Amino acid sequence: MSLRIGVLGGGQLGRMMALAGYPLNLSFAFFDKAVDCPSAALGPRFGDDTYSEASLQAFIDSADVFTYEFENIPTGWVEAIAKSKPVYPGVKSLAVSQNRLNEKQLFSALNIPSARYHEIRAESDLNDAVAALGLPLVVKTVTEGYDGKGQFLLRDATQISACWQKLGAHVPLIAEEFIQFKRELSIIAVRGQDGATLFYPLAENHHHGGILSHSIVPAPHLDENTQLTAERYISSILRELGHVGVLTLELFETRHGLMANETAPRVHNSGHWSIEGAHSSQFENHVRAVAGLPLGSTRAEKPSAMINIIGKHPSAHDVLNVTDAHLHLYGKSERDGRKLGHITVTADSYPELEMRMSRLAEVLPNPMALNLSR
Ligand code: AMP
Repeated sequence: MSLRIGVLGGGQLGRMMALAGYPLNLSFAFFDKAVDCPSAALGPRFGDDTYSEASLQAFIDSADVFTYEFENIPTGWVEAIAKSKPVYPGVKSLAVSQNRLNEKQLFSALNIPSARYHEIRAESDLNDAVAALGLPLVVKTVTEGYDGKGQFLLRDATQISACWQKLGAHVPLIAEEFIQFKRELSIIAVRGQDGATLFYPLAENHHHGGILSHSIVPAPHLDENTQLTAERYISSILRELGHVGVLTLELFETRHGLMANETAPRVHNSGHWSIEGAHSSQFENHVRAVAGLPLGSTRAEKPSAMINIIGKHPSAHDVLNVTDAHLHLYGKSERDGRKLGHITVTADSYPELEMRMSRLAEVLPNPMALNLSR
């Protein structure tokens, strides 16, 4: 009989989990109130307008084992499921990654370097933060921030009241020292129910307007030591959380080594390349872990790039005309800043990869999508 996985959230991440799970005869149900969410075509959808207890219970009754594809959900949902059925990753992983203060405390307990910070509860705390950490500061909401939302770059002290006006209603905040990073990287790991752990190669991530624009994997010009350090950091987090499933750690590469930025207890946009670029994708490995199956190799066969399709759809014909390009569309309508899909392209070498990325940049309707300066 087919095991059914219940997924909290019905976005593109849930959709790609299901696409990876159906060949294993796993089936899926989703908890998302949006009737037309990207996962809706891949299994029954639960969740009414208010996410009532009754609709959560109907969802719990519908599946055997549970996971989530989005971290900004009430921990109470995961706790309610855990009373009667297994949920992977567990509530501890969720509680840490949805709160930047919890994350910082975890990094420091595990001796993982990260930006120094100051907790902000009143406007005057911003003055204290400037005195303690200097300028510039990146001020962030502690919860609910994603894609650079809920942030203010405080360049000088005269901006304190503007910063407070923008974010003061969302206390507590966190003010972080500004890290002069060389580039942004992320590592994705998967841990099975038996504790077996595998790592994907580090991705080099480029953002535009706070949103991931593209990733290159393995990150070019990487020394082995950097990959091993990232693996050591994420391993200690996985063990500490007792995490089962995929976990992502976003990092800054600096002159002094790696610094952790944040975690996501889930499959991640910077891992979408793995569908075609790795032996087993992050989605397949996540559902394998949730279903209690052995993990698949995370080996990358060749250099890959993942390019997000944001706001407007390109012509599928033009994209697929580029050698070794794969198009993934999420079934969403066009809207500024919305992630509508992604393209993965692979090549035998980085110069060839760069050439193919340039060809893709030409056919993307959104001229900002690709910044190849590396
Ligand atoms: P976050 O939501 O924490 O991932 O931040 C969004 C983006 O803001 C990151 O991808 C970085 O480009 C930038 N950023 C965040 N924190 C810092 C920091 N402490 N120093 C410099 N840049 C940062």
